[in-house]
Amino acid sequence: MAKGYDGNREQKELVASFGKSLGKRAKFACEWCGAKDDLRPWEYRSGEEPAPELLALLCGRCRVIADGGKAEEGELHALRNALWNDLEAIAGGAGRVLLRSKVPWAREAIEESIYDEELKEKLFKESR
Ligand SMILES: [Zn+2]
Repeated sequence: MAKGYDGNREQKELVASFGKSLGKRAKFACEWCGAKDDLRPWEYRSGEEPAPELLALLCGRCRVIADGGKAEEGELHALRNALWNDLEAIAGGAGRVLLRSKVPWAREAIEESIYDEELKEKLFKESR
């Protein structure tokens, strides 16, 4: 069901309210690339009830990439480390970006870094 204006605002406020605890979890660095600028929670599965495990603390640049912006090859390499994270929002989010960007090593990197078979399957299915 589509959410109205208030629903969206509530969702955004709720997401923002996790900022502090995410900052602690992430040691105040982007959970994808390690940058320290403009850190904000990003929703891995937007539209779902926000929870810390469904959020990644990302820098401004990574949020642009996460939402479909074009990434440089070097930026995509930085995301590779995030695949090792055991949180789906971090590893799955990064994997999704790598597959979408069609770098030739994306699939291999996901195969060797993510141990959660279910998550792997999901990512590969999504990218087909
Ligand atoms: Zn970043």
